Amino acid sequence: MKVGIMGGTFDPIHIGHMLAAEAARDVYKLDEVWFMPSHIPPHKQASGVTGEIRLEMAAEAVYDHPSFRVLDFEIERGGVSYTVDTVTELRRKYPQIEFRFIIGADMVNYLPKWHRIEELAAMIQFIGVNRPGSQLDVQQLPSFLQNNVKIADMPYVDISSTMIRSRVAKGESIRYMVPDRVYDYITRSGIYAIQPGTAD
Ligand code: ATP
Ligand code: MG
Repeated sequence: MKVGIMGGTFDPIHIGHMLAAEAARDVYKLDEVWFMPSHIPPHKQASGVTGEIRLEMAAEAVYDHPSFRVLDFEIERGGVSYTVDTVTELRRKYPQIEFRFIIGADMVNYLPKWHRIEELAAMIQFIGVNRPGSQLDVQQLPSFLQNNVKIADMPYVDISSTMIRSRVAKGESIRYMVPDRVYDYITRSGIYAIQPGTAD
């Protein structure tokens, strides 16, 4: 069985994430894709939204896809979520599964800086998808990574979680930028709306 891991902060999950996972699944005939929200990502500030909420939104996003699942692995472990630790544990827990790790072009370019990347690259192959704003050029990676990153084409989606959070805070619509059920979740819960007293 082949499983793609879709890691990220998912703060919130949006259609760029969904399309990346679907492109990787389709091109590389993955049996499943597991969306795995990180606890504290190594490369950015901790989210203002709890892991629980990010997991719930991811669950809403995948609910109608027969081969998409949500994994609470990193949130449950806590601490800083290093992919090398996660992949080590996943391979130990599911020795029969062949894992791939799905990442957008911005992360592909950042790969050389990932924690213990040489060890990680020896354990898993990456599937890189294009994303506006970042050149997806595997030839520019250090040679030990070049054979380890395969490409899956997807339509360019110029959407980020940062953009979604800022649109909600400004009262702008995010409908169709996130899955419908995620839209409902964000609207109903009021997350990302400016808190009373913090607006200028
Ligand atoms: P933020 O703005 O908070 O960084 P983000 O939109 O970049 O959020 P992340 O949770 O950081 O989302 O990203 C998780 C993974 O999904 C990363 O590998 C990232 O490259 C990829 N990804 C995110 N948005 C897109 C997109 N629009 N197109 C392709 N890949 C994407
Ligand atoms: Mg990001």
